Amino acid sequence: MEDNNVIIEVRNAKKIYKMGQERIKAVDGISFTVKKGEFCCLLGTSGSGKSTLLNLMAGIEKLTDGDVFIKGQSIRKMSENKLSRFRQDNLGFVFQSYNLLGSMTALENVELPLVFKKVPAAKRRRMARGILKKVGLSERMNHKPKEMSGGQQQRVGIARAFVARPEVVFADEPTGNLDSKTTIEVMDLIKAMAAKNSQTIVMVTHDVSLAAYADKIIRIKDGHIESIEENCRKDLTEQKGDQSDEDI
Ligand code: ADP
Ligand code: MG
Repeated sequence: MEDNNVIIEVRNAKKIYKMGQERIKAVDGISFTVKKGEFCCLLGTSGSGKSTLLNLMAGIEKLTDGDVFIKGQSIRKMSENKLSRFRQDNLGFVFQSYNLLGSMTALENVELPLVFKKVPAAKRRRMARGILKKVGLSERMNHKPKEMSGGQQQRVGIARAFVARPEVVFADEPTGNLDSKTTIEVMDLIKAMAAKNSQTIVMVTHDVSLAAYADKIIRIKDGHIESIEENCRKDLTEQKGDQSDEDI
């Protein structure tokens, strides 16, 4: 891509699952781009192929055909080692079911990506404490997941996704297990965290109302793109200037 504002390019991505004799075309030739700092929403009903597409983009699932480029680098061509290193250095993840380690405290969960990145212990503790404070969990740092509400657990999940300052954060139905009030809090938090450092978000949801948070809405149906809508397109540098000084 010539446009150097593009951070992700999905090029004719396909994923076919073979189930016995049956071939399920979960993602059937999808192409689009995401710009740096954009909040991109993959919107569609259950079974439309959203999660498969997200997993292809993040290198979690292998493409059957096509390719995905992040920062100009082909996900498909990377070795397993290169890919896992690339993910550690560039990508963060937020999951519907939080995926926190039950035996670890909030602080330890948030430190984990920094452990993988070999950040020294004192520094990673400082970073994890700092971000947990920012997501409003100063009082819960030593709690284990089962000692926290769903909304609190997802705040830990968000802190973990953002602590290493990845350029891209992927989120699969991040509010899928939360009530409507907590959903708004969590969505506002994701949006604010990303805007602060011009991070790019790719979020999967079936919830039309959450698409209001997005700069770009890609509607997925039966493994295809139904439409791409670029609402409220904005100058990302201007947007950054609009941020308050609040240290999120
Ligand atoms: P969504 O996230 O939009 O609900 P998915 O990406 O999970 O949809 O699934 C898309 C389609 O691919 C569905 O028909 C689903 O049953 C099928 N599918 C997903 N994962 C697998 C798998 N591991 N093996 C076989 N079929 C799968
Ligand atoms: Mg899904």
